[in-house]
Amino acid sequence: MDFNLSDAQKDIRDTVRKFAETRIKPRAHELDEKEEFSAELTKEMGELGIFGIIVPEEFGGQGLDYLSYVIAVEELARVDGSHAATVAAGVSLGIAPLLYFGSDAQKKKYLPRLAAGEGLFAFGLTEPGAGSDSRGSKTKSVQNPAGSWTINGSKIFITNGSCELTEGIIVQTVSGRIRLRIGTQTVDLSAGRAVVLERDVPHDVEALEESAFLLTISWPKDYATGPGFPAEANVEGLPKINSDE
Ligand SMILES: Cc1cc2nc3c(=O)[nH]c(=O)nc-3n(C[C@H](O)[C@H](O)[C@H](O)COP(=O)(O)OP(=O)(O)OC[C@H]3O[C@@H](n4cnc5c(N)ncnc54)[C@H](O)[C@@H]3O)c2cc1C
Repeated sequence: MDFNLSDAQKDIRDTVRKFAETRIKPRAHELDEKEEFSAELTKEMGELGIFGIIVPEEFGGQGLDYLSYVIAVEELARVDGSHAATVAAGVSLGIAPLLYFGSDAQKKKYLPRLAAGEGLFAFGLTEPGAGSDSRGSKTKSVQNPAGSWTINGSKIFITNGSCELTEGIIVQTVSGRIRLRIGTQTVDLSAGRAVVLERDVPHDVEALEESAFLLTISWPKDYATGPGFPAEANVEGLPKINSDE
C-alpha cells in the first residue's frame, strides 16, 4: 500500500496552505476576538473549490477522494480552527447527508451552490437535553394527513446554522418508536428521520446569533396551520412506525 500523497493531493495541500497563510491568518485573531463569521473568506474558500472536493462533478464539485478533503481541513486548522470548522461542518454535516442520503432532486437543487461555497447547510442534532446521548433527542417530526410536517423541538450549538450564508438545516428528529425482536428479546427503540429545512421555511427563532456559530431554534408546535411545509424525509428503509408517541 502506498502511503505517499499523490501529486494532486500535494497540490491541494500547498494551495490551501497558501490561502490559509495569506488570507485567513491575518484576520483570524480579530474575527475570534469579535466573534464574527466572515462570509467573504468563506466564499473565497468556495471559489478555491474546498467545499466541493468530495462532491461529484455532475453536482458542481471536483469529485475527488476523501483524503484530499481531509488534507484541506487539516491545512485550514493549522492556521485557524474556526475556518476549518466552517468547512468541516459545511461538508461533513451539510453536504454529506444530502450527497449520501438525499434524493436526486435534492442533490440537483442544493449541491451546486453548496459545492461552490455560495451557501451553507448545517446539521441539527444536539438539543438542550441530548448531546453525546443522541438517542435522547426529543425533537419530533410528524407527518400530517395533508402531507405537511410538524416539527417540534429545540436544537442548540448548530455550526453554520445562523450565518448569512446559511441556506438550510438538516434536522435530526424522532418520528416514533419501533419494536425490534432480536432473538428472544424485544427492544423498544426511537425511530429517527432527517428533515431538510430550508432557510425560508417560517419558524420561531428563540435566540438568534448567540455567537456567529451557535443558534437555538424552535419550530412551532403546529405547522399544519402554516403554509405547506416542504420538508422531505431522507432516511429510507425505516420500518413502519407509530408517530403517536
Ligand atoms: C464547536 C462546536 C460545534 C458544534 N457544532 C454542532 C453542530 O453543527 N450540530 C450539532 O448538532 N451539534 C453541534 N455541537 C454540539 C456537540 O455535538 C455536542 O456538544 C456534543 O455532542 C456533546 O454534547 P453535550 O455538549 O450535551 O455534552 P454531554 O453529552 O452532556 O457531555 C458532557 C461530558 O460528559 C461526558 N460524557 C458524555 N457521555 C458520556 C458517557 N457515556 N460516558 C462517559 N462520559 C460521558 C462527555 O465526554 C463530556 O465531558 C457543536 C459543539 C461544539 C463545541
